Amino acid sequence: MILIEEALQLIDAQASPLAPTKIAVTQSLGTVLAEDVCSDIDSPPHDKAMMDGYAILAEDLQQGKAQLKIIEEVTAGQVPTKALSSGEATRIMTGAPVPTGATAVVMIERTTVADDSPELVAINDASIVAGKNIMLQATSLKTGQVVLPKGTLIRPIEIGILSEVGRVEVLVQPRPSLAVLCTGNELVSPEIKPGPGIIRNSNGPMLSAQAQNVGAEVHYLGIGRDDEAELKSLITQGLQHDVLVLSGGVSAGVLDLVPKLLADQDVKQVFHKVSIKPGKPIWFGVKDHGDRKTLVFGLPGNPVSSMVCFELFVRQAIGKLLGRSDQALGTVKTRLAQEFTHRGNRPTLFPAKLIQQEDQKIVSPINWKGSADLGSLTNADVLIYFPGGDHVYAVDDEVDALIL
Ligand code: AMP
Ligand code: MG
Repeated sequence: MILIEEALQLIDAQASPLAPTKIAVTQSLGTVLAEDVCSDIDSPPHDKAMMDGYAILAEDLQQGKAQLKIIEEVTAGQVPTKALSSGEATRIMTGAPVPTGATAVVMIERTTVADDSPELVAINDASIVAGKNIMLQATSLKTGQVVLPKGTLIRPIEIGILSEVGRVEVLVQPRPSLAVLCTGNELVSPEIKPGPGIIRNSNGPMLSAQAQNVGAEVHYLGIGRDDEAELKSLITQGLQHDVLVLSGGVSAGVLDLVPKLLADQDVKQVFHKVSIKPGKPIWFGVKDHGDRKTLVFGLPGNPVSSMVCFELFVRQAIGKLLGRSDQALGTVKTRLAQEFTHRGNRPTLFPAKLIQQEDQKIVSPINWKGSADLGSLTNADVLIYFPGGDHVYAVDDEVDALIL
């Protein structure tokens, strides 16, 4: 049995970023750029009005006042046809290019046009100086400038910028394809009301959602019976992907066939069993196909074990394949809201609730009944890390927790 840190290092050593591929910008959310992206335009492409109002020569104003002749109107999408001279104004809308000669834009609220002389505008705005309400060409982006360097995580903002600089496709670290396979004779699909001895497959949908949540492309293989021939064929399908996540069948039961069947298909075991609670029986191995690899995780079937092992181990592997360094669960240092007794040699990740107390957050372990108790987990926001060994923790003791 190895330590959590050793397991994480072994996984890290086996996972490397996938070969970059071009994908549609609209599909790129959450991926990492594998190229420098340059702007093909200036933004804004012209000196542009930032207000609806009048483009003027700032020096025409005396204490903010002037009566000017309106020479044309320019709305967004149009371009001015007349240069401004002293004594003139162009009625202009936000986003439109300012006419040659203009040095400021006065907002419409500071102007009046009398009904009987619609060709004249009276300005009254003492705040106007040269440059006011004009955004100069290329203030935001310059032609040729690298606007997004390789390695940038694509968030909605980056999708906006990519679109602004004319990209519809982009080179990224692709999403790993990940297969989920749940093993167990006792499992039925969630739509079925389970009979005696039978339980619903909660892990399949949960693990698929967890994988999707961290950017994998999920291929759900459903339920496999604890039968060599059936599992062999499903494992073969699973090995076509970058990651295969199995649940169940990795402990010491008579029908725990997964490690043997994986070995039969040349999946090399890297480790089996980690000193952790829940999740001790976790199995990890690698199938080397020559030109690519499949990382294989056999997660213990109890739902909380599956859930926690995914968040701790599989999540890190997916992050590495995606080229992301920020994919591990966040941690928080906090204080216990109540006394807590930890027993056992293995480090425990214990579900708990964060409670706001005045200006700090404290943490209260939930009434959790162990690795088969997924129900209580809906009340948890964090997993408190208790090191191995029997210990009584007092109220206010500092603990580390992983944020779910
Ligand atoms: P195993 O790891 O196969 O020994 O399973 C451990 C426990 O987890 C057993 O009580 C199983 O019934 C349960 N279990 C296994 N697979 C699932 C699943 N997909 N969904 C919910 N519970 C499961
Ligand atoms: Mg089983």
